[in-house]
Amino acid sequence: MKWINDFVELLLPKICAACGKPLEKNENCICTHCIAELPLTNYHLYDDNPVAQVFWGRVNIQAATALLYFHKKGRTQHLLHNLKYNKRKDVGLFLGKLLANQMETHPILSTVDIIVPVPLHHKRLTERGYNQAECFAEGIADVLNKKVCPNLLKRSKETTTQTRKTREQRWQNVSDAFIATEDNEYHGKHFLLVDDVLTTGATLEACAQAILKIPQTKVSIAVIAKA
Ligand SMILES: [Zn+2]
Repeated sequence: MKWINDFVELLLPKICAACGKPLEKNENCICTHCIAELPLTNYHLYDDNPVAQVFWGRVNIQAATALLYFHKKGRTQHLLHNLKYNKRKDVGLFLGKLLANQMETHPILSTVDIIVPVPLHHKRLTERGYNQAECFAEGIADVLNKKVCPNLLKRSKETTTQTRKTREQRWQNVSDAFIATEDNEYHGKHFLLVDDVLTTGATLEACAQAILKIPQTKVSIAVIAKA
């Protein structure tokens, strides 16, 4: 029945993923008005931006940035909600392309070789059918003509529930949660680790640590928004 769904989707008016208004024929994913009003951080212009600071003293990152500011009920929240829960993969692609445009002129981010999305829990991936971070990675890769490596990182075990643990136990729980695939072709590469939202940074940190176990690698980080 997939073709019927595809056909129905063609007939329905496409709506802006940020404000919900119907899109004009020349618009794609986000309406012209919302594009002009996107809360861009321009963090890529500052080495010591708030995203980079999250990782100071925790893991050695080359550069880090977030594309958008997050405001409750704002455009960023709508975009992220549509990307995660309404199958709007096009939001990830669109925002990935925006970020890639910023990366092209950046002294460090322009040297990225491989883009790696933070893997989703197996259970979530089955429920959702796609990894939203991978959609963002695809958009970046499209513009920069780089490879996305969605299987570089594997969850070494399904992390058990975090709620009843102390901070220290929680870190133990996540720190060894990822393993990077060992392969000669990855040696010496600069990886861009991407996710949709940065909260505590514990998951991104654990992923970065796993990648840095590959000889001579470098890691940079990009997220759609910092919560
Ligand atoms: Zn709009």
